Amino acid sequence: MATVQVSNLRKSFGALDVVQGVSIDIADGEFLILVGPSGCGKSTLLRMIAGLEDISGGRIDIGGRVVNALSPKERNIAMVFQNYALYPQMTVAQNMGFSLEIAGMKKAEIQKKVEEAAEILGLKPLLQRKPSQLSGGQRQRVAMGRAIVRDPDVFLFDEPLSNLDAKLRVQMRAEIKALHQRLGSTIVYVTHDQVEAMTMADRIVVLRGGRIEQIGTPLQLYDRPQNMFVAGFLGSPS
Ligand code: ADP
Ligand code: MG
Repeated sequence: MATVQVSNLRKSFGALDVVQGVSIDIADGEFLILVGPSGCGKSTLLRMIAGLEDISGGRIDIGGRVVNALSPKERNIAMVFQNYALYPQMTVAQNMGFSLEIAGMKKAEIQKKVEEAAEILGLKPLLQRKPSQLSGGQRQRVAMGRAIVRDPDVFLFDEPLSNLDAKLRVQMRAEIKALHQRLGSTIVYVTHDQVEAMTMADRIVVLRGGRIEQIGTPLQLYDRPQNMFVAGFLGSPS
């Protein structure tokens, strides 16, 4: 597991300044949630931490080492997206083990990793099924399983629950929290759902137009919102 430090991070797409000097110190094992309106730079920030997007300025440290120049693979992080695509022709077990296979891990070791992750996620009885034979929540668990098998230092989630119905979303929130407690991993989690942020986060970062409006625990933000934007954003229904 690892700390993540983002220092004065910037991103521009041409003349568009999407992330404008963002600094956050994320503790080892912290569950940090990024919230903010659509287009405020949440996904871009996450993609820069993952190494999927070049940075325009600033610095990113993971586990105390500068990763600016490192490829996504070298950063030892795993990302779970909203639109996770499972391989339809592969079983659940094959889907979960695929990245390890590509990395050249031995079959027996892959099987062990996949079984461990399946145990954590309650997927053991489903390992030989195909994605088409799974419910939405089960597919989402497989997407998380693909991340877990890689033993990442940091998990990055980009609105992982937004395609699920309301009931399932509530259930998956609890499961992700339990997963965090069990693995003790550092998690950076993006959502535009205020309830998700307030119920899941150790700390919340409120972003607006590529800048941080406020960082604090859910209670701090609830009790002492720094301005009307934060108060309005956290107070409005999802
Ligand atoms: P969020 O995830 O908070 O909704 P994004 O990080 O996806 O926001 O996008 C922030 C802004 O950057 C948006 O205005 C978006 O249109 C723009 N943007 C994102 N990716 C690109 C890109 N590859 N090229 C140009 N503009 C982009
Ligand atoms: Mg986004």
